[in-house]
Amino acid sequence: MLTEYIDSAERAAEIIRAGGLVAFPTETVFGIGVDATNGDAVAKLFEAKGRPSNNPLILHLDDGGHWARAAAELPTVAEAFLDAFSPGPLTLVLPKLSSIGDQVTAGLPTVGVRIPDHPIARAILRNAAVPVAAPSANRSGRPSGTTWQAVSEDLDGRIDAIFTAESATIGIESTVVDCSGGNPVVLRPGAITLEQLQQVAPHTREYGDSEKQRMVAFGEKINSPGILHPHYQPKAQVCVVEVPPVGISVEVSAVSAFCGTERFDGLHEFALSKIFGSLDDYASGFYEFLREVDRQAFERVFIQTASEEGIGRALRDRQRRAAGD
Ligand code: AMP
Ligand code: MG
Repeated sequence: MLTEYIDSAERAAEIIRAGGLVAFPTETVFGIGVDATNGDAVAKLFEAKGRPSNNPLILHLDDGGHWARAAAELPTVAEAFLDAFSPGPLTLVLPKLSSIGDQVTAGLPTVGVRIPDHPIARAILRNAAVPVAAPSANRSGRPSGTTWQAVSEDLDGRIDAIFTAESATIGIESTVVDCSGGNPVVLRPGAITLEQLQQVAPHTREYGDSEKQRMVAFGEKINSPGILHPHYQPKAQVCVVEVPPVGISVEVSAVSAFCGTERFDGLHEFALSKIFGSLDDYASGFYEFLREVDRQAFERVFIQTASEEGIGRALRDRQRRAAGD
């Protein structure tokens, strides 16, 4: 397939309405959008990404008021989250509308819904006028695409079009919160923190590691299967470290994070390194750094653990998973 490089929201929407696959920017990472109501298009999306069929897709809408295009109901707590954080990097898991296919939700009775806060994404969604399933624009398992060039690396020739926009600013996927019954549960950490959600709904809690392990051990149907798949991994071995290895000469006290690769001779001198001046910069440049490590074929990369505040919790989650944990 010949991939078209585009910069028009109308053209993107036209391709989506015709059953095609279009990568476009959002404020979190780039997504690959397809018409979620078109079964063939959804099947092509799983194929293009190499995505396991038991990993559900998030549906994107241009306006919170359109939730009924995807969900059967909007529980009070979900409405409160929508008011507080949408448009933005928050995905609400809601009871699904019966017309949303099992393929989209991986057979779950629920559906993930998000209203992105990005002018291009919203223009595309407005023009498409259907719920758009848009998983991250990368081959399954790889670091998410945060630039159109990264998207092109993974998906040129596999999707119909790529929107050549600026880099995604947040750089980490949305917070996913299950609002489908009982107290809200954070299934995936993101830029909207647990504390922010608790300010709106104090009983919101995190889905614990022990809960995940118990589910897997007992073969229970896990309520967010995506949690189980390998994710965000470069080809290089990822070592998460508290401080850069001894012998390196960067002034670490002044920076928020350090990422670097060893020289091939094993000396602790860094052939490729980057110092991020803030936690937000670290999150925003993290996946692109891992991709650069692979482009230059390094075998091992050291990445400094993110601190716990703000987006740091989400970044730590992606770091652990990039390391294969
Ligand atoms: P991605 O599209 O690659 O950002 O991944 C989407 C993630 O959203 C999945 O891996 C799931 O963890 C989560 N998700 C999507 N839909 C649902 C749902 N219906 N229930 C629970 N989690 C969901
Ligand atoms: Mg993904």
